[in-house]
Amino acid sequence: HVKQRGRNAFMVFNQSIENKTLERRLLETALRTAIKEQQFYLEYQPKLNITKNELIGVEALVRWNHPDLGRIPPLKFISLAEETGLIVPLGEWILRESCKQLGIWQIQGLTNLTMAVNVSVRQLEDPYFVQKVEEILKETNLHPKFLELEVTESIFADVKNTVTVLNEIRRMGIQISVDDFGTGYSSLSYIKEFPIDTLKVDQSFVKDIHTNEESKAIVKAVLNLAKTIGINVIAEGIELAEHVEELSKDGCQFGQGYYYSKPLSTTAFEEYVTNMHTLKG
Ligand code: C2E
Ligand code: MG
Ligand code: MG
Ligand code: MG
Repeated sequence: HVKQRGRNAFMVFNQSIENKTLERRLLETALRTAIKEQQFYLEYQPKLNITKNELIGVEALVRWNHPDLGRIPPLKFISLAEETGLIVPLGEWILRESCKQLGIWQIQGLTNLTMAVNVSVRQLEDPYFVQKVEEILKETNLHPKFLELEVTESIFADVKNTVTVLNEIRRMGIQISVDDFGTGYSSLSYIKEFPIDTLKVDQSFVKDIHTNEESKAIVKAVLNLAKTIGINVIAEGIELAEHVEELSKDGCQFGQGYYYSKPLSTTAFEEYVTNMHTLKG
């Protein structure tokens, strides 16, 4: 009996691996086609000064609309794009598209907004990354101070290479944020070595800041740390008025989340800005 169960278990196991591999291979092929056929588009989530209720910028988030499968969320394809290296051409498209869009909004009078773009480790490892960023800024006629790159803590594991790239980026005048701060299991000492402008407190700490002492303490500690070393903090995943209240009490100035707005299409963002101005009078 044991033997039989063992064999069945093996078969089930094996089959699920095969399905996984097949699914991945199909997804990978679809991803290549998607880049060629431009099935991607961007949405923009407002970032605010939560104490003044003022818009300070947006974060670009990639979306994939597959002709048959419909919308595929980033969590389903970003890691595969990273593993296959397809994130390099995709990431370049995202950067160009978001810089172009900010250029258009600047012409429309939104002259104080920053554009935050998520960047994967794999992109920073691309020897042409810095050059590509320079070209895109030139091409889109965008001042580097309006661009912000969001990187996760995992990039700080590989100090030697990334420190050079991030220093070059920072020297160009581009801002650097640490995304999902507090979830990366990496040593805090990278904060000393890297040119960081902003810590983005992960949404998991914001979610229950009003009910959980630990989350509250972590957010306070991050704010203290940032204040001491002179960098900014933004809270992500703000969904409730209670979150805003707690964060404001703790001295957090910046935030983003569904409470303010979900990620928006370009036209929806323009409507959002118009409404914001109308409300303010
Ligand atoms: P992230 O950069 O930390 O982005 C925040 C994610 O949280 C986004 O999910 C956003 O839609 C979602 N979010 C925003 N406000 C709230 C809120 O109040 N509550 C909750 N529960 N969620 C909120 P999304 O767009 O599905 O992206 C997921 C992740 O995929 C991103 O996390 C980022 O790591 C990656 N990603 C998205 N776009 C890009 C991109 O253009 N390039 C790269 N390399 N990665 C990207
Ligand atoms: Mg991000
Ligand atoms: Mg995040
Ligand atoms: Mg995240």
